[in-house]
Amino acid sequence: MSTPLLWDQFRNRMVFEARLVAVSALRIGRGQESFDPTGTDLPVLRGVDERPFIPGSSLRGVLRSYVERVVRSFESPPPPGEPWRGRGACNPLSFTDNCLPADQVKKWRQHRGDGLELAHRAWDASCRVCRLFGSTVLASRVRFADLLPVDAEPVTAIRDGVSINREKETVENKYDFEVVQPGAVFALKVVAENVTNAELGLLALGLQALARGEIDVGGFKGRGLGRVRLESPTVRWLATDDREALKAYLRTGTLEPVPDAEKQLSAWVDALIADLEEASA
Ligand SMILES: [Zn+2]
Repeated sequence: MSTPLLWDQFRNRMVFEARLVAVSALRIGRGQESFDPTGTDLPVLRGVDERPFIPGSSLRGVLRSYVERVVRSFESPPPPGEPWRGRGACNPLSFTDNCLPADQVKKWRQHRGDGLELAHRAWDASCRVCRLFGSTVLASRVRFADLLPVDAEPVTAIRDGVSINREKETVENKYDFEVVQPGAVFALKVVAENVTNAELGLLALGLQALARGEIDVGGFKGRGLGRVRLESPTVRWLATDDREALKAYLRTGTLEPVPDAEKQLSAWVDALIADLEEASA
């Protein structure tokens, strides 16, 4: 397959949409404490309109981790020093198991050559997951929009928490935190562009797990928070080599959903499985 980095054209687009429903309370925080003396210690994240929302980056992170774990169970890393060539799943946070170690990227950047050459090297070096979800060098081909509330305004509540000193087994600190109550509904929209069917399979694996309630979002998961499920999934798909579909899209600017979203996701997962098997053969 050619390097998508060189694709100066629009080849295909997949749009997945669904309602993400909070099954348990959700703890989507700011990641820093509030110093508002009238407020709670840990408020939920709110948008400019003051309504709670889930950052797309947060959902994308948990989905990516899930996909990495699945890929690792199918594909092992290459021998040390060899490029990953679109196989396996590296650990982007590790210095040793990272398909694009920072010192390597630094060397490439110092080496005279243009950005395109760097992109080629990075593409060759990258693992299956970094190629799709992106890395410090490669742009992601999957976008997760921020998940804004739909239907009613999400209800929030304040809960009490304590932190325990593990050594002394005493209560160290009492604090409270805000949660979004169960039943809140958020709009999920994921867009992938210029992707192969096997790459869509990778994304579909994560989306299916999310739909089944196997992926938790936000913080305090150990307390049973963060359980979600998906409702009413739709898949829209346009491949520009389908000239009639492309013309219709250009005329109207809209894409019709495929008749059966779940069947379509499964078909892409099948393409991924075929690709994994071919790689290990
Ligand atoms: Zn990687």
